[in-house]
Amino acid sequence: MSEIAVPETSTTTPKVGFVSLGCPKALTDSELILTQLSAEGYATSKTFEGADLVIVNTCGFIDDAVKESLDTIGEALAANGKVIVTGCLGARTGDTGGNMVRDVHPSVLAVTGPHATQEVMDAVHAHLPKPHDPFVDLVPAAGIKLTPKHYAYLKISEGCNHRCTFCIIPSMRGDLVSRPVGDVLKEARALFESGVKELLVVSQDTSAYGVDVKYRTGFFDGRPVKTRMLELVQALGELAAPFGAWVRLHYVYPYPHVDEVVPLMAQGLVLPYLDVPFQHSHPDVLRRMKRPASGERNLERIARWREMCPELVVRSTFIAGFPGETEAEFQHLLDFVRGAQIDRAGCFAYSPVEGAAANDIPGMLPAELREERRARFMAVAEEVSAARLQRRVGATMQVLVDSAPALGRKGGVGRSYADAPEIDGTVRLLPPQKLSKRLAVGEFTQARIVGTDGHDLVAEPV
Ligand code: SF4
Repeated sequence: MSEIAVPETSTTTPKVGFVSLGCPKALTDSELILTQLSAEGYATSKTFEGADLVIVNTCGFIDDAVKESLDTIGEALAANGKVIVTGCLGARTGDTGGNMVRDVHPSVLAVTGPHATQEVMDAVHAHLPKPHDPFVDLVPAAGIKLTPKHYAYLKISEGCNHRCTFCIIPSMRGDLVSRPVGDVLKEARALFESGVKELLVVSQDTSAYGVDVKYRTGFFDGRPVKTRMLELVQALGELAAPFGAWVRLHYVYPYPHVDEVVPLMAQGLVLPYLDVPFQHSHPDVLRRMKRPASGERNLERIARWREMCPELVVRSTFIAGFPGETEAEFQHLLDFVRGAQIDRAGCFAYSPVEGAAANDIPGMLPAELREERRARFMAVAEEVSAARLQRRVGATMQVLVDSAPALGRKGGVGRSYADAPEIDGTVRLLPPQKLSKRLAVGEFTQARIVGTDGHDLVAEPV
């Protein structure tokens, strides 16, 4: 056992006295707490008297250690009065069945077990408010965002467990690492509270959320939530509802469990919009690409999704001219886009990426043929997309306003649930007919669709 005296810092900011007892594991806990205190701008005091509050990190291993810890808490209480106890002794039960520290010293402010930096910091914040930091305190709770104030991207995981032959992302970012579900939901709530009206869920593979942690149960607001796509989407939808905000899902692979998410779209909990990067439709090409869910029957799957949720909009990206792609395989892709009625499609002509496994696949097509197939693909995709857009004429849709000069008197630009920012079309808003009608950036308006213009809709605000 050793006792660590923390060097004093000489400032006028709130001061915390710290005593670290016990083994090296307890010492690292002390370091974590001290690091956090210092990062938040607290100063440390060498004496109990000179501190505004004292933290005692205890040891509960042998009787001598227990006695030393209880004595130290007693000294700190006598000299200072405000004491937070953490460490192994904090987790021990006394003779009466209650907490041993509280039994002996009922006036301590808080008691935690070991490895509890956040709990200790919460107790410190409750009894000794954080000093004002002119730099950090200017940062909004939701962090600094590069998007307009009314929409934000929410990253739920990093990396990817797949090894698509045309992609080098896993070699740069590693395997899938899901963010703790509690952290993701906390960030989402902060974003809604800061005025975000549209939350865009992103990752490399949204459907795989939680696979790496075996769908572990996390906590948000004291209630258990599984680290899994369905539970996450449900919780995000519930968080968004009181703010009237949208939740949009990107990079969803068509695994069977996505079928469970579609009913949440039909209920209006999240937007009926799925960004599914199919890349191709022919099973042999998908196998050469080593695509996830390549064995799924995607045409049938999309049809089933649309049965469950007729409003569903499907966006996707494709690659034309992948090594070895035959004319028949390419035709299969064109038939798929028509059959699946893909609402929004993007297409790249295949181009080799340094370090990608696909470079070794025989049958590289000439650049002109790859480009020609891309153009043919886009002609078909645009035909499908235009026909689907046309069906909206006459409908009244909710539109999120992205731009509205002069309060919208000259019209503006917005997006419906069918349009993700940057990648899809927009809704061109005409000047409102009603003089009292105003449009404001970041707010919703109802608009009657009066026509189409390429990938865009034209609408009259009502
Ligand atoms: S393209 Fe394939 S390997 Fe690359 S990030 Fe997406 S799923 Fe992972």
